[in-house]
Amino acid sequence: AVQAIGVQKRFGSLHVLKGVDMTVMPGTVTVILGPSGSGKSTFLRLINQLETLSGGRIAVDGELVGYRPVTRHGEECLQALNEKEIARQREKLGMVFQRFNLFPHKTALENVMEAPVHVAKESKSTAREEAINELTRVGLAERLDYYPAQLSGGQQQRVAIARALAMKPEIMLFDEPTSALDPELVGEVLGVMRSLADGGMTMIVVTHEIGFAREVGDQIVFMNGGVVVEKGGPEILDNPTEQRFKDFLNHVL
Ligand code: ATP
Ligand code: MG
Repeated sequence: AVQAIGVQKRFGSLHVLKGVDMTVMPGTVTVILGPSGSGKSTFLRLINQLETLSGGRIAVDGELVGYRPVTRHGEECLQALNEKEIARQREKLGMVFQRFNLFPHKTALENVMEAPVHVAKESKSTAREEAINELTRVGLAERLDYYPAQLSGGQQQRVAIARALAMKPEIMLFDEPTSALDPELVGEVLGVMRSLADGGMTMIVVTHEIGFAREVGDQIVFMNGGVVVEKGGPEILDNPTEQRFKDFLNHVL
């Protein structure tokens, strides 16, 4: 599970997250909605330790993210983890961004093998076998030796998903994975995400795809201005309580 309690983030004088609480249970899908600048990406980046907290706590599987609680002079305080410990925590999380960030000079297969070989120190033959499995899972068994430039945006994003899966994450974070795609390519990526969800993957998905949220989301969270304005099951999409959420839904639909 992912548990966020009172999460705050400041960039200098800019107070971006003002106390976000969220619980994501194992095997469930949480969809985060919200207007531009509401802090959605920042929240995901905090979970994955691409940013550091300004306040509050995040725990993954009951383990505090980025810190360890220690007792000094009888008082409990937090000690920052070292780089190696942070890297170990980050291995539990797979992240997929709006931009696919594939290595342009590597094939689909090489992109997916990269982290297992160089980070997880797997043998090339094992990594290759697993990479083929992951690329098959996202429907790209026929494209193993293609370079990113030879693939459509949807195919590139599916390679990016396979690449994240190759590290065997417990939790997948998606930050607007279909926003950069031509409309006709959105469905194939959402389809892969849906099958991942059906397979029991724990997922946090930032997206504007309301159909996906309604059909795949177990929990819907609407953020605005650095706070969670409304959250609940997918039924809140059809019966929003807060005016700000109603306005947002009227805009995206
Ligand atoms: P979008 O829908 O446009 O992706 P978002 O909800 O993901 O928006 P964030 O990217 O989390 O929003 O940004 C929230 C606010 O924090 C914005 O005002 C942004 O400019 C600011 N911000 C984000 N990252 C940084 C940074 N590294 N330094 C300074 N300000 C930042
Ligand atoms: Mg964002």
